[in-house]
Amino acid sequence: MEPRRALITGITGQDGGHLTELLHEKGYEVFGLIRGQRNSRREAVVGEFPYVHLIEADLTDQTSLIRAVDVAQPHEIYNLGAISHVGYSFRNPQLTADVTAKGTLNLLEAVRITGLDQHTRFYQASTSEMFGGLDYNRPGTGYDEDSLFHPRSPYGVAKLYAHWIARNYRESYGMFVATGILFNHEGERRGLEFVTRKITDAVARIHWGLADHVTLGDLYPKRDWGYAGDYVRGMWQMLQHHEPDDFVLATGETHSIEEFLTLAFGEIGIEDWHPYVRQDAELQRPAEVDILLGNPAKAERVLGWKREVDFAGLVKRMVDHDLRLHAPEGR
Ligand code: NDP
Repeated sequence: MEPRRALITGITGQDGGHLTELLHEKGYEVFGLIRGQRNSRREAVVGEFPYVHLIEADLTDQTSLIRAVDVAQPHEIYNLGAISHVGYSFRNPQLTADVTAKGTLNLLEAVRITGLDQHTRFYQASTSEMFGGLDYNRPGTGYDEDSLFHPRSPYGVAKLYAHWIARNYRESYGMFVATGILFNHEGERRGLEFVTRKITDAVARIHWGLADHVTLGDLYPKRDWGYAGDYVRGMWQMLQHHEPDDFVLATGETHSIEEFLTLAFGEIGIEDWHPYVRQDAELQRPAEVDILLGNPAKAERVLGWKREVDFAGLVKRMVDHDLRLHAPEGR
């Protein structure tokens, strides 16, 4: 039987790596978008996933997307490509809109233009940052699919456009478009620009005597942090469901950056992390989301999705990985 084909945008990113592994295990033929004439992450993808077909394209370049969709003829598209860092989006709001918002429209149009709109299932990577933390009607139970949106960053605003245009293509053209409103998910593939990985990387360096501190912004914000491997499974489940829908994926627990620090430093036997942490006002954001808590009840009920890694397990996994990564030879 012909294998199912999947096209992933954002294949060089954290979720792209986890998803490629998952889809390959399931027997898919995997296509991935790679951008730029000299993308430094190309070798890493080719080295780790030699079976992937890379297609040069950019979410801001409509023609390249039409070609990519035409070449891959995908049964499933996972639109993970984005300017995805909240802090960076404040410094580059226009680029964020072009890639994260309009890039999604470009890709949806590419599916229509190639005539695959009734054939291809489309996953849109929506985010808890669309809620923004201001819907205090739901403090105890967490945000769900019906909560109010109030994004607090150019990233959140761009993602909200992408979320609604994706839903609009579902409603207008009958396309199978599922949106996953995912709360923060981390892991050993997380980029070093994100706070969790910045912490676990520094903890490992401090342990091996390669650094003596880490510099962070605000430490009080609370997030609902899960493991990326669990979340890409949820994305796949959304596209296997008999109808397209919107689903929150979250753990239902929220923890502050301080709690993350306590567990991470605890892994190397340091009880008081304060001497190792410096704060820099430059790293604070013009508008912050104080607390995010998600309610994954619908995904659990309808899709049978369940996360397997808890908060402590996530931190341990990331620290263990970075300790191995930075270990001196022979240790
Ligand atoms: P990453 O930041 O790790 O990856 C982003 C990807 O987008 C990279 O592969 C990057 O490629 C690609 N990209 C950036 N600009 C373009 C462009 N112009 N054209 C094509 N591709 C581009 O993100 P994650 O893997 O963590 O997240 C995946 C998706 O899920 C993102 O859309 C993110 O916003 C969303 N999300 C993530 C959450 C999380 O906690 N991780 C939570 C909720 C949503 P390159 O290597 O070329 O830069």
